[in-house]
Amino acid sequence: MARKTARKELPLEAIQCEIALQQRPLDPDTVARYCSLMDEGTEFPPVDVVYDGQRYLLYDGFHRVAAAERTGKRTLPANITVSSREYAEDMSYRVNAAHGLPRQPGVVTVILQAIFANPRWRDKKDAEIAEWVGCSRQYVNIARHENEKSPEAATGTDAGPPPSAPPDAPASAPPDAPASTDVETSPKYPITDEVGTPIPGELADRWLARTVLRDRVREVQGVVTLISHSLEEGDTTYALINQAALQSAANTMTDVIKAAYPYALCPACNGVGCETCRACGFITLLAWKAIG
Ligand SMILES: [Zn+2]
Repeated sequence: MARKTARKELPLEAIQCEIALQQRPLDPDTVARYCSLMDEGTEFPPVDVVYDGQRYLLYDGFHRVAAAERTGKRTLPANITVSSREYAEDMSYRVNAAHGLPRQPGVVTVILQAIFANPRWRDKKDAEIAEWVGCSRQYVNIARHENEKSPEAATGTDAGPPPSAPPDAPASAPPDAPASTDVETSPKYPITDEVGTPIPGELADRWLARTVLRDRVREVQGVVTLISHSLEEGDTTYALINQAALQSAANTMTDVIKAAYPYALCPACNGVGCETCRACGFITLLAWKAIG
């Protein structure tokens, strides 16, 4: 699709903050820092949105938008690309840290999980995904391995087509083929947390089950989507719902759930269970940063 990018001052209420395009949880410290900078008059780079003919879909700048809302700004400069929602989705996978937060390893994992849940993306080669996301091919390998073992992958929560073999792949490997050196095919590959600490075997299932938090996020967002679709189709059942308030509440719920995503083995108890980790054996990214 031909794309044209223009820079324009957009009213905040026109900027659609869709959770599916936000690949990292809002970091309260960063929002607070941006708020002070905005209050001091610091100019921020434009946020990035896609105009799909109806909506301005934000894919880069969630912290700036949150800070702008909190400081009472009415508009933000935006780079507007005229394209599709799919393009916004693709771009959200490669948002990098040229400005704002450095990208944490956990964030790359979240992006890769979104990619593996996306029928347009999940069958692409590791190398292609790695180049787009800006991480190593090994990292994609590991994340794919973990994702395939997760309950989310097993239940197949979306209605995408079944994965198909890439056209240049042999139909089946000869039985005496040497074992692949790819880590993703090794059943003994040790699972590690986001900082590289091995997860003890007895905690592996619990660690992998963290992806169900993403199901909860999708359910929250699903309520908003269902109601807005019903309204678009003329269903008056939800006519009296304040859609902006509903979206904002869903965003808050999503932020809370995403912030609770297990990030590291609890350093206080090494996963045995203690007060710090509320007996679950893991701590969040925020807790990890607070300790570090
Ligand atoms: Zn603990």
